[in-house]
Amino acid sequence: MPAPALLDTVSSFLSQEHDLLIGGRWLPAAGGERFAVENPAQKHTISHVARGGAEDVERAVAAARRALEAPAWRRMNPSQRGQLLWRLADAIEAHADEFAQLESLDNGKPLSVARAADVVLTIDHFRYYAGWATKIEGETIPINSGDGAHYLDYTLREPVGVVGQIIPWNFPLLMAAWKLGAALACGNTVVLKPAEQTPLSALRLGELLCEVGFPDGVVNIVTGFGDAGAALASHEGVDKVAFTGSTEVGHEIVKASAGNLKRVSLELGGKSPAIVFDDADLELAAAGVAGAIFFNHGQCCCAGSRLFAGPKIRDELVARVSEIASRTRLGDGFDPETQMGPLVSREQYQRVTGYIESGREQGARLLSGGAERPAHLAKGHFVRPTVFSDVTNDMRIVHEEIFGPVVCVQPFDELDDAIARGNETPYGLAASVWTRDVKKAHRVAAGLRAGTVWINCHNVFDAAAPFGGYKKSGYGREMGRHALDLYTQTKNVIVHLG
Ligand code: NAP
Ligand code: MG
Repeated sequence: MPAPALLDTVSSFLSQEHDLLIGGRWLPAAGGERFAVENPAQKHTISHVARGGAEDVERAVAAARRALEAPAWRRMNPSQRGQLLWRLADAIEAHADEFAQLESLDNGKPLSVARAADVVLTIDHFRYYAGWATKIEGETIPINSGDGAHYLDYTLREPVGVVGQIIPWNFPLLMAAWKLGAALACGNTVVLKPAEQTPLSALRLGELLCEVGFPDGVVNIVTGFGDAGAALASHEGVDKVAFTGSTEVGHEIVKASAGNLKRVSLELGGKSPAIVFDDADLELAAAGVAGAIFFNHGQCCCAGSRLFAGPKIRDELVARVSEIASRTRLGDGFDPETQMGPLVSREQYQRVTGYIESGREQGARLLSGGAERPAHLAKGHFVRPTVFSDVTNDMRIVHEEIFGPVVCVQPFDELDDAIARGNETPYGLAASVWTRDVKKAHRVAAGLRAGTVWINCHNVFDAAAPFGGYKKSGYGREMGRHALDLYTQTKNVIVHLG
């Protein structure tokens, strides 16, 4: 099957010099600079975008504040807000192939994955939150003041205000959707900062946000580097910051938020266990735990990077996972045969291969993959799916987040040991448990300190299901009804009735 041709709309989008979206207008960065966007499979420049900095963040926050206070948004009724979100979902759907191509070129992921996962989930996400806009309700509360008078007490759930949203490069469009859907359904205004590696789909989304009729300034998009994110996190005019990315930057965000005590929600790293008991359906489990770590080239915050295998099935499971790893086809995202693309950037390539080297140096046994780039893919940032066994807890590959297609297989003895070892990490984002025993599955799910526990599956997401971390994986829950808590604040109103 030949690689699909680049859509005309995509080539013309790529050939533009992209500006920042501020107050409903596309404006160059104050400093006049742009930076190159690279395709990680070929390492060539595919587009240029504006390099926004602190001055641009200043302008964007001011525009978001004006939009928050302007009647066009403040007085818009919830049904109209919901309709706008629904129209946005329709517009993305109408341009689904275009978004998939942009995402694959920018991030490196296979086009088929971008189309079937990233774009489809994005559309569904906006539709889900379109429905919530009309269902954000307060409550009436019976109160007893003790003074004999009668009162009516009710609550209003109001938007938090101007929200800064800083997103990573692993699912660029979907992460924008996770951030924008709930924030807009609740009536906030936004300054969005995409990752420097992958700004393109957010910019195209910005065009559609304008086209479908979001009032000027409701969503502002500032592309740029970490300094733009830092300016947003510390800005006194920002009421809340929502961040997805590394735990290190998460710490910086919390510190930067202290000035005006803005609200913070964080979705950070992970070192998630996948625990396979002896009684698991081995075929399902082997494919499942391989997908848990290799999906999106391991560039998932919830990747199952620690594989715990029961004593009786260990050899068989390891053989099957290694076999899946060694027959995974690496290549350009546009090649229909490709199952795994390149990592997103040179930094990630160096980081992940550095970890693989460290594993070998510290004495882990390499069963599949390794740091050498496949010869026919010398051009891009390709790393083969890699399986290590015979690891110990002091090895960096075991306790640090790699964010690449590298899994460490470890033994465990029985149920309590599985829980204890699964929890042996400062992170707590996710886990999966593989067993046919219902009681065991639920006991382990209860014992694991993680925000999501999958049973006989991994990496299953739905706009309705809350997602977020325990421990150093962050706080706050995105998706589902829970995300409304991040983007609303409660006002209590007490009325003297006589
Ligand atoms: P990162 O630095 O945490 O980047 C995430 C976002 O934060 C990007 O938009 C980034 O902008 C921005 N940023 C950087 N420094 C900032 C600061 N001081 N204040 C505010 N915002 C700031 O992540 P990375 O460097 O791309 O990746 C490094 C590691 O982070 C990965 O290897 C992985 O372990 C982890 N990570 C986790 C997730 C996740 O989903 N939890 C996603 C991506 C990465 P720039 O893009 O311009 O730097
Ligand atoms: Mg960074």
